[in-house]
Amino acid sequence: MRIHHLNCISSCPLGGRLMDGRTGGVFSRGRLCCHCLLLETEQGLVLVDTGFGLGDVRNPQARLSRFFLALLSPDFREEMTAVRQIERLGWSASDVRHIVLTHLDFDHAGGLDDFPAATVHLMRQERDQAVRQRTWLDRQRFRPQQWASRPRWRVYAADRGDRWHGMECVRTLDGLPPEIAMVPLAGHTLGHAGVALRTDGGWLLQAGDAYFYHQEMDLERPACTPGLRFYQALMEKDRSARLANQQRLRNLRRHHGADVRIVCAHDPVEFEALTGRPLGEPATLAGSTAPAGEFMASRSAPS
Ligand SMILES: [Zn+2]
Repeated sequence: MRIHHLNCISSCPLGGRLMDGRTGGVFSRGRLCCHCLLLETEQGLVLVDTGFGLGDVRNPQARLSRFFLALLSPDFREEMTAVRQIERLGWSASDVRHIVLTHLDFDHAGGLDDFPAATVHLMRQERDQAVRQRTWLDRQRFRPQQWASRPRWRVYAADRGDRWHGMECVRTLDGLPPEIAMVPLAGHTLGHAGVALRTDGGWLLQAGDAYFYHQEMDLERPACTPGLRFYQALMEKDRSARLANQQRLRNLRRHHGADVRIVCAHDPVEFEALTGRPLGEPATLAGSTAPAGEFMASRSAPS
């Protein structure tokens, strides 16, 4: 299975360095990615998360909340949407047959409408909480304006599945090869999940928003920038589950780091290390994934 890494529109949060840990000052805006994966499988193309889509680029005010537009000021360039990057790689939108979503936040679900031939796989609880629109923040983050695909959603309960490297209720998805599995990682949202992919070089786990900053996966001294710590606390639906799952991910790295590479959705350092290209560039055919062990080895090196 070949994997392509797409940054489907960067966010430029207030707080600069306090958010991403690397932008010059605290008064400039930071830069976070929206790390989506495009998989070439025998069942056609599979997209893991969709980032922001064409509708968001063309009419952000109609689709997204004013609160998050002000906070994150996404860099709305059409060429960075998943569909435009996929076309640039030589395919068309209809080649994408399946989409696996880590969760339904606006910055992960925005591209759903751009792939009318795709079945969308997500956790049942994620759909249920998003549709309920219970709190003010739920209405800002879960945007029904992005859900024209809803008749094609296929949902999964989080109460059964297999054990995988210490994670529970891991399951394969209908119509997809066994190399793709959903790994429940609740906390950020109630139905949040990671997506594990088995490649020739080992496993890749896209952990979505289970953590935001690469050093949170540091085994000796986990750390996070103050801005991203604040953002995660603001967005969490279940704090104890979120922190327990972060610990589970560190344990996964500790015990299986040689053959499981873990990445999250928004960390630019992980994205650039994995792809070897800057955040702002669309994917190229040369940029499919490197083997798992290599990256973990470089990350495990003492600093
Ligand atoms: Zn996110």
